Amino acid sequence: MTESNPLAPTPADLETLSRQLGRPVRDVVEIGARCVCGNPLVATTAPRLSNGIPFPTTYYLTHPVITAAVSRLEAGGTMTEMTERLEQDPALAARYRQAHEAYLRTRSEIGERTGIGPVPEINGVSAGGMPSRVKCLHVLVGHSLAAGPGVNPLGDEALAAIAEWWTADQCRCVGAWDTSGHAPNRDLSRHVKTQGLSPAELDAKRAERRTSEGKG
Ligand SMILES: [Zn+2]
Repeated sequence: MTESNPLAPTPADLETLSRQLGRPVRDVVEIGARCVCGNPLVATTAPRLSNGIPFPTTYYLTHPVITAAVSRLEAGGTMTEMTERLEQDPALAARYRQAHEAYLRTRSEIGERTGIGPVPEINGVSAGGMPSRVKCLHVLVGHSLAAGPGVNPLGDEALAAIAEWWTADQCRCVGAWDTSGHAPNRDLSRHVKTQGLSPAELDAKRAERRTSEGKG
């Protein structure tokens, strides 16, 4: 259950995520990684969205400094280079396949601890091109930040390659996103767990959300 999950996002986290992305976030069930200052770096999305759609991409990189730096790597051809190395280096390919398997395992654990349960439609499907290609470095870096070093070799490499712009030991949050005015807060995700609530309780929650949106 979310209430006993230390990784569950707070309302303040969700607001920060929305500001980082410039849009309301949806179906965020955990914060996958945080800055040394405590701000979210990675949003963990439910393996099944609240509209019922299976969602294989668990980790979403949200910190603008990191996403921009990773985009630079992508623009510089790093993904093609990595995919070629996977074809030529069986040891790297094996470690990358293990990363894929770790991703799937963690995703099903997240599904369990957040009350979503198994999502058989995406069994064996991870993200970012895993297990044999590199299609999105943001996905791999998100995985590395959430899992820690040594799990996703190519995510770790990409993180090392952006050290000029961002490193885990230093906060780069100041000025990285707009903190003035309203956060894009319409249609916020299921930070309030709605399963198990009565219709009356759900109505009360909705009214509460409308009120807080109307403030200021
Ligand atoms: Zn920070």
